[in-house]
Amino acid sequence: MSETTILKNGWVFDIDTETFVKKDVYIVGGNLVSMVEADVANPVEIDVEGSYVAPGFIDMHVHVFETKTTLGINADRVGIEQGVTTIVDAGSSGLEDFQDFKQMIIQPSQTEVLSFLNISKQGLCKGLSELADMNDLMSVQELTEILAKEKNIVGLKARMSASVVKDNGIKPLEHARKLADESNLPIMVHIGNAPPEITEVLPLLKKGDIVTHAFHGKKGGILNNKGKLIQEAHEAIERGVLFDVGHGTSSFSYQTMKAFKENYHYPFSTSTDIYIGNYDKPVGSLMTTMSKLLAIGYCLEELVASVTSRPKQALGLAEQGSLEPGTRADVTVFKVVEQRQTLIDSQGEGMIVDRMIVPQLTIRDGKVVFESNEY
Ligand SMILES: [Zn+2]
Repeated sequence: MSETTILKNGWVFDIDTETFVKKDVYIVGGNLVSMVEADVANPVEIDVEGSYVAPGFIDMHVHVFETKTTLGINADRVGIEQGVTTIVDAGSSGLEDFQDFKQMIIQPSQTEVLSFLNISKQGLCKGLSELADMNDLMSVQELTEILAKEKNIVGLKARMSASVVKDNGIKPLEHARKLADESNLPIMVHIGNAPPEITEVLPLLKKGDIVTHAFHGKKGGILNNKGKLIQEAHEAIERGVLFDVGHGTSSFSYQTMKAFKENYHYPFSTSTDIYIGNYDKPVGSLMTTMSKLLAIGYCLEELVASVTSRPKQALGLAEQGSLEPGTRADVTVFKVVEQRQTLIDSQGEGMIVDRMIVPQLTIRDGKVVFESNEY
């Protein structure tokens, strides 16, 4: 029998009740197991008293194609080293570069790297106006062929803002709709500066699709000037479209998030849109982004769900995002420390936060792959 590891005395997150319960977590080989299945006679014990134990965090929006895009950052730097066991690269790679993405990034990384494949065959490898020419979009047949071979593609990415689509307006998203319907994959849509208008974008989305940069502070967002959801956004959420933070350089506003929180209780997911240019500021990490939301008033349970069970459901992941016995042992151990500092959003607005969520221990496939001695 392989070695048993016990994480002892932590506050363990339960995704069904969205609560923390004081208990031990058992790992045998690469899997989580129940106490009865564990060889408790001779275990390796790790005392995590004072820490929280959660399913490995999932960041649904990162850019880690460091070898072929100018914006890419190292996967493990924003993955396991920041307490994130699964990252989803959001459209850095399209069809043309996916084999390189697989060999250069997915395979050598300790962090699990999944992909929202860009609907443009070029992805972000040849500039950032990848949807300016409709001839660059992949066909249904091309998508079907790559999906038959590649297990790490979990969705499609369509960046719908003026600088990306140029004169094409809503057309690329109509094509994405076709691709998604044929493949049964979710679309992650990036919203930004119009055109296309958000009122054209949202009606094309179905249950399971994801809107990233949902809480940006630009004109033409999900909220009207009274802080209420515009009709199309309201209907999208009601149909089961998931709104995602996707912080990024210019896509997260405290004002928008606060107004949303004040008026609504809809679940959302938290992601970073982290890349080389925003790693220092304003994004920092997934846990730093969560710390901002904590300071806005969201509770820790809600925030942990927003990086575990919600991405799990959105991406249809079987192994990740829970601590269910029998599933892969990807675990994030973190602390909430008293630490007063000013954190800025993408509008440059500063907010004083008193508590920071910080990584302690990252376990991937049952192995400790990162340990922090800072706190
Ligand atoms: Zn992005």
